[in-house]
This record gives sequence, structure tokens and C-alpha cells, in this order.
Amino acid sequence: MSTATTQGEQFTFQAEIKRLLHLLSHSLYQNREIALRELVSNASDALDKFRHLMLTAGADKDETELAISITPDEEAKVLEIADNGVGMTRQELIDNLGTIAHSGSLEFLGKMSGDQKNDLSLIGQFGVGFYAAFMLAEKVVVLTHSQTDEGAWRWESDGTGSYSIDAAGFDMPRGTKIRLHLRDDATEFLRPERLKHVVTKYSTFVPHPISIKGERINEQRPIWVEPKSQVSDEQYEKFYQYLSHRLDEKPLWHLHLSADSPFQFHAVLYCPPTNVELLGFGKAEHGLHLCAKRVLVQNDCRQLLPEYLRFLYGIVDSADLPLNVSREALQDNTVFRKIRKVLTKRVLDHLSKVAEDDKAKYQTFFAQFGSSLREGIATDFEHREKVASLLRFRSTHDDGKTSSRSMNT
Ligand code: ADP
Repeated sequence: MSTATTQGEQFTFQAEIKRLLHLLSHSLYQNREIALRELVSNASDALDKFRHLMLTAGADKDETELAISITPDEEAKVLEIADNGVGMTRQELIDNLGTIAHSGSLEFLGKMSGDQKNDLSLIGQFGVGFYAAFMLAEKVVVLTHSQTDEGAWRWESDGTGSYSIDAAGFDMPRGTKIRLHLRDDATEFLRPERLKHVVTKYSTFVPHPISIKGERINEQRPIWVEPKSQVSDEQYEKFYQYLSHRLDEKPLWHLHLSADSPFQFHAVLYCPPTNVELLGFGKAEHGLHLCAKRVLVQNDCRQLLPEYLRFLYGIVDSADLPLNVSREALQDNTVFRKIRKVLTKRVLDHLSKVAEDDKAKYQTFFAQFGSSLREGIATDFEHREKVASLLRFRSTHDDGKTSSRSMNT
């Protein structure tokens, strides 16, 4: 439904979107950070799409760096997330920001029970895409200029029942600016330190530069998608320290894996030099970081490896994984399960190789993590024999001392 007025054309949201928007405007405080993750992720996708078009020669070559900039305007209480990606035509605005085509939102809607408290707690697990903007904003303005160059458009909504689309009335470069007119209780997102914290938490691995008020904040190179030969020992170490928060420590070994078929994934896994569980710190609660095309899907995902391998740190990135999926649904995802299988096998193969090639290295590992392997014998029936072959008995060389020597392979 649409009606033309002097204020531009008015459109009514689909009924499902109205329900979603109503719920989002009552979102829990803890959930709000994900709104930024969703918008940054959309901006990154738009940049990827443009890069793809440029590479496939459909779009004009552009030397300007593809980038995402986040700009708070404290006086106006507006937070802007801008990208110079593909942008949207008028029809794309209607198709993309007026209907629910997005799988995460659909899945979320399907799970809604009508019990507001219960439904709100689900938002954190499901990405809700663009509409998450209404968790922070009482009004959202989208200014966009498509790479197909039909001029700039302005989309606006207060997130209740309708939205309007109008010619922007001014020229703007290719790309999209999402302007969040923040709610009074969300103005903390105007503080650069708060923004930096949230963007670092969720979007460090986004493969495009992100700046806040002009300051570049994601320097982390995505080393896991690069060929092994391009990554220096120092970079591997730095990345380990970043993931483990164990500064100045070197990993015992690392494993860098890549596969293209039958499904695509990259992973870097690290074994720490010491087993903190032996020091009485309790069970290691960290897991692996899971990304889909460099965008974080889940922090500390513990289901990516069997529990006895929980001492490993690392990151796994697959273009074949959905970005927005709950922890529960993820475990049923076929690609996820296959990745888990491959990772487990490759870790055990790697350990066999170390045991064969360098007994001293293996001794050091076993002194720390032998107990974990014993746990594996009792729990991992599929790999029981393999794990059993990795067990060693105390020898005269094994004095139980820990070593922090690096054993990168
Ligand atoms: P999803 O990104 O999962 O498809 P969203 O609800 O977040 O779902 O976004 C819907 C669509 O709107 C996107 O698929 C994309 O086509 C379009 N879109 C959103 N943000 C942007 C942007 N910054 N630039 C270009 N297109 C965008």
C-alpha cells in the first residue's frame, strides 16, 4: 500500500514487520549492542557487493577505499553508520526495507510466542537485521545512492506502522548512510568509547576499515583467510594473544586450516602453553570464535569441538554458514556439524604428527593436556582409538614441569 503526499510516498509495513518493530522498541538493554553489529554487518555486505561488481566489471572502477564510518552527532543525538557500498535504488528500498525477506528475522518471527519477556530474550540469539536499528532509534533515516546511479533517495520511519520514500533532494556519493535518531535512553551510543567498545567486541574481524569519528579502529588483519606462507610467526603470536587475552605468551603450537570443497572454511587453532585447569582455575569456559565471511556469528562457541578439546583457542570462518542463527539451531546446521568433524580430525592428526616428528615437543604437550586426552577416551567414541594412540605414560624425561617454549609448526 502506498500513497503519494508532499512528504514523499508513504508505505505501510507488512503486518509481521509491525509486530517485530513493536517488540524491538521494547528491547532489553543487553540486546541493544547487536543493533550496531547488524548495521555494520549490512554495511560490510554492501561493500562486498560493490567490490564484487567492480571485479566482475559491472560497476565503474573506483579508487576510493571501501570503508565504513560511524559518526556520532552529540548535539543532534544522531548516530550515523555510513558506507560507500552498492547503495539502493528506490525499488530496492521498498523490497529490502519494507518486507521481511531476511532469514534471521523470519526465523525469529516464527519463534515469537506472544510472551513479550520471553520473545525479547530471543532477540539476542537471532540477528534481526536492519530492523534492529529501532532498538536504539525513535526515528531512522536512510540516505542512499545506488551504484546504478538513479539519484539519491531518503527512506524514513519512526518504526510504528509506515515509512516514506522521497528523492533526497541533494546529491550524495554512492553508498548508504543510516541515521539513527537515538531514543533518550540510548544516547550512550553517542560516546566514542562506548561505540569503540561495541564495535571492537563484535566487528573487529569485518574485512573493511571501520572508523569512529575518523579514527580507524579495526586494525586486526584477518590472518586466517590468508595463505599460511603470508603470515609471519609474529602475526600468529599476536593473534593468539588477541584471542586468548594471554598477553606476552606464546602458543605451544598452532594449526592453520583451509578448505574449499565440499564446503568452504578457514580456521586457525592454538594450543596454549599451559593448562590452566591444572592450576585450579576451573573448567576453561572459552570456545572458538565463529565467523561467516569475517563477520562474527558467535563468540566462544563451545560446540565447534568436542568438550575435551576445550583448551584450544581459535577462530573458524565459513562463507557457508548463516550469519544469524541461534546457538541451538546452529548445532543442527549441516555445515556446522561437518566443520566440527573436520576440525576434530585435523587436531588429532596434528597431535599424532607432533608425537611422531618431535617427541620432546609432544612430551611438553602431554604433560599439560594428557588429562584432556584421557577425558576424550571416555567421551569421544568416534575417535577413541585415535585418542588412545595419543596417550603416553610417564617416562624419565617427563618430570611434570611446564614449559613455555614455542612449538609453532
Ligand atoms: P540481510 O542483511 O540479512 O539481508 P537486513 O534486514 O539486515 O537483512 O537487510 C535487508 C536488505 O537491505 C539487505 O539484504 C540489503 O539488500 C539491504 N541493505 C541493508 N543495509 C544496506 C546497506 N548499508 N547498503 C545497501 N543495502 C543494504
